[in-house]
Amino acid sequence: MRIAMIGTGYVGLVSGVCFSDFGHDVICVDKAEQKIEMLQAGEVPIYEPGLDVLMAKNVAAGRLSFSTDLAAAVDGADAVFIAVGTPTRRGDGHADLTYVMAAAEEIAHAITGYTVVVTKSTVPVGTNRKVHQVISAANPKAEFDVASNPEFLREGAAIDDFMRPDRVVVGVESDRAADVMAEIYRPLYLRDFPILTTDLESAEMIKYAANAFLATKITFINEIAGLCERVGGDVKEVARGIGLDGRIGNKFLHAGPGYGGSCFPKDTAALARIGQEHAHPMQITETVIRVNDEVKKRMIQKIRDVCDDSFNGKTIAVLGVTFKPNTDDMRDAPSLTIVPALIGGGATVRVVDPQGRSEGEALLPGVEWCEDPYAAAADADVVVLLTEWNEFRALNLSELAGTMKSPRMVDLRNIYSEPAVKKSGFDSYVGIGR
Ligand code: NAD
Repeated sequence: MRIAMIGTGYVGLVSGVCFSDFGHDVICVDKAEQKIEMLQAGEVPIYEPGLDVLMAKNVAAGRLSFSTDLAAAVDGADAVFIAVGTPTRRGDGHADLTYVMAAAEEIAHAITGYTVVVTKSTVPVGTNRKVHQVISAANPKAEFDVASNPEFLREGAAIDDFMRPDRVVVGVESDRAADVMAEIYRPLYLRDFPILTTDLESAEMIKYAANAFLATKITFINEIAGLCERVGGDVKEVARGIGLDGRIGNKFLHAGPGYGGSCFPKDTAALARIGQEHAHPMQITETVIRVNDEVKKRMIQKIRDVCDDSFNGKTIAVLGVTFKPNTDDMRDAPSLTIVPALIGGGATVRVVDPQGRSEGEALLPGVEWCEDPYAAAADADVVVLLTEWNEFRALNLSELAGTMKSPRMVDLRNIYSEPAVKKSGFDSYVGIGR
């Protein structure tokens, strides 16, 4: 199969590289010239474990290339994937479809023979039909079908998620499009990964329903954690106790500082907005959004409590600022709410993150970037563990405490235990839901 991937971000690049590894010929297109220049030079513009090696392998095999020339990539392609961003539209929470529709219009003018235009971006129900209309209007002679193929990969584990998915969802409206999609995903089909073929609307809805459900699960355990803090109990034990129930499952039950990232905040907002527009308020999702905001605020109060009720004049070391480990993505990270509150309250904030600095520098003005946790903690009053990078899981706690002015730890990921931390010389330890 010949594939054009329009949009070479976290999803487009990983998908393009993995499709080429399936044996397809893939051209990844992006408008950002600098990104394409880097890729053509063999550099990966994002941090995603394993991506550099897989990319180099498939470029060397002649199956993968990068270009800013959309028309040339679409010419003769069996399938054209749209993997551009769908951020929150300013003001109303709706998914901003400007990039999707602009890409559709450009694709329309470039279609030569029969092709399937596949939306991989997360889009509201009805978008694929609009994509169809846009292409037909721009090029009435174009021979094409549309397909919805939402992506479920997680940053930080993206290649494994793509190569070994829980399921692949394909929404189609013709057998011809279904055949092309089946051929593209044949390597997964042969290895018995579930491929779910649906209508366009169901495929579009599955993506939002999945993300809203996961956001709800996280928010539920975060709320239980808050209650544990009031009434007793350890949320880790509670999560284990409920997660062993097969109907609940143990994944996504880790209490933390509230969900963030490039998907959950914008997708829950978009789902809530879709509900409002169709006179069917998504009350659970709306509540989840509100509770998640409160969770983040509660984290700020938790740190303030440890700082004797004032950030003023305190030095706080923050370990981890990306929205989760193994990515450099800072979009909607909890750190973007928490760190400015510390600085706003008069604290000096030192930050360390294995991959977050290049994105984070512009987003977190006023922080001091440090090379390692020990440098960040030197003479600090409090260390706050915010993102659970492996680098922060096995710290030499005695050494850390030894460098601090008044060793106190706020562990927003429940990595450590109070007895171990205190035994290492810390005056106090605060986790979540304990
Ligand atoms: P991203 O911002 O990292 O990448 C989007 C890319 O598209 C950018 O490089 C941009 O320059 C490019 N682009 C925009 N318009 C273009 C055009 N007309 N032609 C060529 N290139 C264009 O976004 P992302 O994180 O990869 O997300 C893409 C979509 O996938 C979103 O809808 C998102 O919700 C969804 N998604 C993301 C994830 C994730 O973990 N990031 C997971 C599943 C689904």
